[in-house]
Amino acid sequence: MTDTPTQLFIGGAWVDAADGATMAVDDPATGEILCHVADAGPKDAQRAEEAAVAAQEKWARTAPRARSEILRRAYEIIVERTDELAHLMTAEMGKPLAEARGEVAYAAEFFRWFSEEAVRIDGGHGTLPDGRNRMLLSRRPVGPCLLITPWNFPLAMGTRKIGPAIAAGCTMVLKPAPQTPLSSLALAAILKEAGLPDGVLNVVTTSRAGEVCEPLLRGGRIRKLSFTGSTGVGRLLLAQSADAVVRTSMELGGNAPFIVFEDADLDKAVDGAMVAKMRNMGEACTAANRFFVHTSVVEEFGRRLAERMGALVVGPGTRDGVDVGPLIDRGGRGKVEELVADAVERGARVLVGGRTPEGPGCFYPPTVLTGVDPGSRLMDTEIFGPVAAILTFDDEDEVVRRANDTPWGLVGYVFTEGLDRALRVSERLEVGMVGLNTGLVSNPAAPFGGVKQSGLGREGGRVGIDEFLEYQYLAVPVG
Ligand code: NAP
Repeated sequence: MTDTPTQLFIGGAWVDAADGATMAVDDPATGEILCHVADAGPKDAQRAEEAAVAAQEKWARTAPRARSEILRRAYEIIVERTDELAHLMTAEMGKPLAEARGEVAYAAEFFRWFSEEAVRIDGGHGTLPDGRNRMLLSRRPVGPCLLITPWNFPLAMGTRKIGPAIAAGCTMVLKPAPQTPLSSLALAAILKEAGLPDGVLNVVTTSRAGEVCEPLLRGGRIRKLSFTGSTGVGRLLLAQSADAVVRTSMELGGNAPFIVFEDADLDKAVDGAMVAKMRNMGEACTAANRFFVHTSVVEEFGRRLAERMGALVVGPGTRDGVDVGPLIDRGGRGKVEELVADAVERGARVLVGGRTPEGPGCFYPPTVLTGVDPGSRLMDTEIFGPVAAILTFDDEDEVVRRANDTPWGLVGYVFTEGLDRALRVSERLEVGMVGLNTGLVSNPAAPFGGVKQSGLGREGGRVGIDEFLEYQYLAVPVG
């Protein structure tokens, strides 16, 4: 913690907020203050924007190989410092160290992947149908970007945006979530060490998100917004981006269905449920939110899942043997408590968990609810906690209709041993991603993203860089 930067990173320098403001970063496992970081205001945001704008032209002309090598070096530094970064993340966010190490590896992979993509940006050339003109197509960086990230994956949500932006030749202002600024500041220090030129990445930590971001979006110099967060905030930012016609990518919330058919391998289904529900304490946009289990296997599935969930060890993420850390803050835990209370009032049975422990920290136990009423609030709200809500179904058409009956469409999980059914149901689900007999879909080499109100665009994969590139077409008469 002692070496972790706590100031703003603007134009390659570490600086205080112009008005000297700072904000506290809390440890969710104890509720105690870990440290204070600079709390940027609109003036700081303007300076960060100016630095990004000033660096853009030269950065766009930098050789793709040079951009690639910076990403590759940063990838190597991150991997070398896995332990240090994991401890930082656990301190500010709460996830158990093993999961934090997993996130560091996942985050680093975006830099490795996009270091490889940076040198593969291609264009095109051809004669137009009239035979009188040639077409030259080149791909150019979209320009200075605003990147806004959430707290649940403090490092990976940053690298998933910064990696392709660097590869494409864009400069940027990053605004991380106020709960988890330290991972982003550590990342900026690593990129500087890896040779990133001043002004290409600027980081503004702030508790005044609206005041800081809105002028940038409306000002006309930021050309791209890449946002990860809730659908409500995404909608607001889309509206703010409209004035200056800012290009947007939106990675928003989910309400994932997890469907277990009567022919599923229940060992696989329970293993998959443990990952899809419990990764990151349930605080993931990909978290299974609604478990639809065929009536004929619901009792067995519920019993096995409750047994596995009940055996998990809850405690501070730094303690050996802990599987489940605290939720992000009291507000997050309060929401989970209310959703469980509402489901129970409507007749759900608690198979395990369901009771907030005494003492400090924002802990909530792994919980399985069965017989959940479809009218319960947790059916159309992201639970964002370690609570599995089980409902039953009887036939395929019915479960597809119910799974799709939501404004979100990020991811769905399907468990069946029948290939025909697996493909048919996956194709009918209105989602951007499907886990077939698996509870984990995230991979830097795959396009991550949703349909409907879960987002616009994709991050990662071959297409991830497209979000940061524009085409330019040159018409050249045939001589
Ligand atoms: P959030 O409340 O929407 O906040 C996300 C980010 O937006 C934070 O940095 C937040 O800062 C900022 N923000 C909020 N209001 C803003 C405004 N008016 N102008 C500019 N920035 C603003 O979401 P969260 O609670 O941090 O994260 C959880 C959500 O993210 C869930 O819905 C989850 O599903 C979603 N998520 C989606 C993906 C995906 O890839 N689809 C991945 C991870 C998470 P402040 O906190 O200071 O307001």
